[in-house]
Amino acid sequence: MKLLRAACSPLQLLLSGQGAAHTPRLRACCTFNVTAYMPEAAAFPGVRDYPGLRDYSVQQPDSFWGALAQGRLSWISPFHTVSDCDLSQGTIRWFQGGRLNVSVNCIDRHVHTSPDKVALIWERDEPGAHVKITYRQLLEMTCRLANTLKRQGVRKGDRVVIYIPASPIAVASMLACARIGAVHTVVFAGFSAEALADRIRDAQCEIVITANQALRGGQVIKLKKTVDQAVKQCPSVKRVLIATRTENKVPMSDIDIPLEEEMMKEEPACEPVAMESEDMLFLLYTSGSTGKPKGVVHTQAGFLLYAALTHRYVFDYHDGDVFGCVADVGWITGHSYVVFGPLCNGGTTVLFESTPVYPNPGRYWEMVERLKVNQFYGAPTAVRLLLKYGDTWVKSHDRSSLKTLGTVGEPINPEAWDWYYRVVGDGKCPVVDTWWQTETGGICIAPRPADRGAKILPAMAMRPFFGIDPVLMNEQGQRLMGNAISGSLCIAQPWPGMARTIYNDHNRFVNTYFKAFPNHFFTGDGAYRSEEGYYQITGRLDDVINISGHRLGTAEIEGAVNQHQAVAESAAIGCAHEIKGEGSYVFIVLKDGMVVAEDVFDKELKDIVSQKIAKYAAPDQIQIVHRLPKTRSGKIMRRVLRKIVENKIDELGDLTTLDDHTAVQEIIDGHKQVQKNEAKY
Ligand code: AMP
Repeated sequence: MKLLRAACSPLQLLLSGQGAAHTPRLRACCTFNVTAYMPEAAAFPGVRDYPGLRDYSVQQPDSFWGALAQGRLSWISPFHTVSDCDLSQGTIRWFQGGRLNVSVNCIDRHVHTSPDKVALIWERDEPGAHVKITYRQLLEMTCRLANTLKRQGVRKGDRVVIYIPASPIAVASMLACARIGAVHTVVFAGFSAEALADRIRDAQCEIVITANQALRGGQVIKLKKTVDQAVKQCPSVKRVLIATRTENKVPMSDIDIPLEEEMMKEEPACEPVAMESEDMLFLLYTSGSTGKPKGVVHTQAGFLLYAALTHRYVFDYHDGDVFGCVADVGWITGHSYVVFGPLCNGGTTVLFESTPVYPNPGRYWEMVERLKVNQFYGAPTAVRLLLKYGDTWVKSHDRSSLKTLGTVGEPINPEAWDWYYRVVGDGKCPVVDTWWQTETGGICIAPRPADRGAKILPAMAMRPFFGIDPVLMNEQGQRLMGNAISGSLCIAQPWPGMARTIYNDHNRFVNTYFKAFPNHFFTGDGAYRSEEGYYQITGRLDDVINISGHRLGTAEIEGAVNQHQAVAESAAIGCAHEIKGEGSYVFIVLKDGMVVAEDVFDKELKDIVSQKIAKYAAPDQIQIVHRLPKTRSGKIMRRVLRKIVENKIDELGDLTTLDDHTAVQEIIDGHKQVQKNEAKY
């Protein structure tokens, strides 16, 4: 393989960034030309239009994905088998025999063709301050970082934790791991020391990459301090590499290494390791129904291809566009649509470090105007929040660059969707409500791609992506045919972007996703298929809640609050929240003889959850009860609690298996009181 040597500009220059001219946008032509749309389609027999292409992708998945993998990725050696999957065993293998390097696909090949093209635009927390990084500069930064990791003993297969918000150094860290074959696991920088320590231990990491501090909404976040606390509980950690984000000095210990200083000592070139298609690329921890987050494993080629293809077609991304996904790199959205998808496509991607309301609620739209963002991808929770501030914050900025708007992470309500479409997009941009999850690797259901001029219905994910075969199942595990029907959302055949396992726990992988509906991937979500055959996601079917688009197991919240000395047991339930979409309502049983002052207790519980998990996980409402409704075998009847929280008392259902009926009435009365108290404030 030809090795690229990036220009030896000083790292400081690299961090300060340089501008680059945009190449002109490609315009869609008037008639649908399938090979202009997807050149690989020329080899698909009989495919002449969009519906034909979509059908072919599902009916001939090996031919479809094989051609795309050959056409869109750069291989060191070609694959011999497109897919080898057995969903009954949770065995998923794509592009076997092939070897490639993800960082080469995301950087080097674009340096060959357009070294000065802007790869990253870092929208720093400080208002109005952005930094541009070209592909050449990104290569230099990644190689120096990769060499630093190698010098610290990191080898192929080793896991590296990255605990930094969206920034060029975070992206370079991810790509540096990919370059040398290490497995990265990015932990959202809002997670607490304990949550970070759990993840470090589970992944058995020796190296952590972080920054001295972070900035968010004008606030300083003491990242290194949190890492210090976490590392104390993790004897496996041998080195902590610390990037410099603020001028403030932080105490350094024997295992701490100043990252930029070390990088400057290293060569700006690094031989990429040839990785097998199915070698691990990254782990990403996500919540499930148990108290223990699971390390979802994604591998090299399949994930990269799927991220790149969905990025290109769902958002109609064209060369020269500026793609603005405002998710943090700590979530799967940041992996697929801030880093890997856009960079694999040679695109320009925005790294958003701030918040939607800093310094004011016009932040996003001022950024759109300044950076000339073409595709904007954000969370419904932010749309709902900004809607409350009114239209002026939006309309005072030029948004004529926008071509597509997207949402992800949770259902978007029609009012928010309408405002996004009408006010933000001036009624001119398609809004794509994209449904997917950490486990799917990329978008699976979205209004685009679709046939030319196909309608988009508000607040609906609508159409499956290429190769995705969604089905609805009833409780007996039978496939529901026909339309205007609801059921458990499953996907009937494998696709390259899907997760491969749960780190160190393949049984949990099989049991969670492939047991309930054999030979299908079960998403954990419910969905409705409309009269016209479009999909609408109705929400989680398991004990997972979705707070501001971030998944959280109710068992995790319970595990945290149960550590309060006054708590005997608890039950956390998802509840509707005007801005966050969902919040948590926690029922608490106190230990015998315990008396608490409610406001102090509330605060203590919130603090415990913030400290054990993260601030966003803190309960919204707390109700102290004498007993929880339980079955005779001792299982908490969450269904009953859910209905009480939803104020659907007449839908409590069959209570004959309840151990103690008086518990329910007491909880209903207490809930009314909680609501009255809420209304007062
Ligand atoms: P995560 O893996 O953290 O991205 O969370 C995935 C979960 O978020 C899904 O299982 C859904 O419950 C929810 N979700 C993601 N996107 C959407 C969407 N467009 N509409 C409704 N729910 C969504």
